[in-house]
Parts: sequence; C-alpha cells; structure tokens
Amino acid sequence: MRIILLGPPGAGKGTQAILMSQKYSIPHISTGEIMRSAVSSNSSLGKEVKQYLDQGNLVPDDLVNKLVAERLAQADCNNGFILDGFPRTVAQADELSLILDKLKLKLDAVLQISLAQDVLIERIQKRGAMGSGRTDDTAETAIKRLSVYMEKTAPLIGHYKSTNLLKVVDGLGTIEQVQDRISKSLGNI
Ligand code: AMP
Repeated sequence: MRIILLGPPGAGKGTQAILMSQKYSIPHISTGEIMRSAVSSNSSLGKEVKQYLDQGNLVPDDLVNKLVAERLAQADCNNGFILDGFPRTVAQADELSLILDKLKLKLDAVLQISLAQDVLIERIQKRGAMGSGRTDDTAETAIKRLSVYMEKTAPLIGHYKSTNLLKVVDGLGTIEQVQDRISKSLGNI
C-alpha cells in the first residue's frame, strides 16, 4: 500500500501514520522527523534546515525532494510506504510522481485528515505544553505553519482530487475513532 497522508499541522497525521505503519507493516516516512533528527544530530543537513523549522517555514523543495527520492529507493519501500508531510507543495507533488514513475510504482491513495483551524492551533499548543520536544510547537509558530499550509499545501487537495486518489477523513475525535475512519475509507486497498 502506497499512501500519502495530507492535512494541516496538528491534524494527527504522525499519530495515524505510526498506527498504519504497524497495521500494514510498511515504513512510515516523515520528512518532518527526518529534518528534526538532522537538527538534533547537528549534521550539515541539520544546520541547513534548522532556521526553516524554527520559523515554521518550508525547507526548500530541492533539498526535501532529494531526501525523499533516496528514501523511496530503499528496499523496505518495495511493499509500500506512508508518506507523512510530503509532498507539501505542488512542485514536490510533481517531483514525487516523477520519482514513482522511475521506480515503476503507483500511489494507492491520498488520505486527507481534515480538522477545523481552531482545533488545530489548540492541539499544537497542547502538544508543545505537554513536552513534545518540538521547538516549533509554540502558538506563534503554529499559526505560521498553518498559514504556510493554507498557502502552499492546501492546493494539493485539488491536485489529487483530479487524479481520483483523494480520500477525506474527519480528524475530530479520539485516535481510535480516526483510525477506524481511515481503515474504512481505505477499504480493500
Ligand atoms: P512536520 O513534522 O511534518 O510538521 O514538519 C515539521 C517541519 O519540517 C515543517 O514545518 C517544515 O519546516 C519541515 N518540513 C517537513 N516536511 C517538509 C516538506 N515536505 N517540505 C518542506 N519542509 C518540510
């Protein structure tokens, strides 16, 4: 199963991706996690991306595209993968379809987790206050990340709707409720 998880920050993509990764035994590829671990290891990639993360801005497309191309070419992606946080721009979506064409792979679904803005900001702030360890989980950065999402990432919804891959799931409720909706929506894939 090859899936993209789409949705605003705070929608629960990461949590649901981990559960799906266990259920289907496929890797969870989170570009945000890749960036955060680069920052905490202080690698050259980390030094390059830190300021973008701290300010709630997107890391440049070229850099992320390269990382994802390398990751998807690894053997553990042969049976599928869950992309969480990528693509985030139309340019990244275009690049992803080139990468998949080259690997002769096709996406099965793009799952959008939708949630109202006020709930998102509250969730991100709560996550920060509960010690997520993410330096970008502050009220200020949450608002910034949301506006970046609306501007750069939300257009992907229309993009994937036109390919008939889009499935929308309501992100309000408990982790289990959302997980159940996702399973139903994926059906026999
Ligand atoms: P996330 O964990 O998905 O919320 O990502 C955290 C941060 O990592 C984002 O605010 C961006 O700065 C960066 N990031 C993650 N994925 C991408 C991507 N696909 N393109 C650009 N920046 C990204």
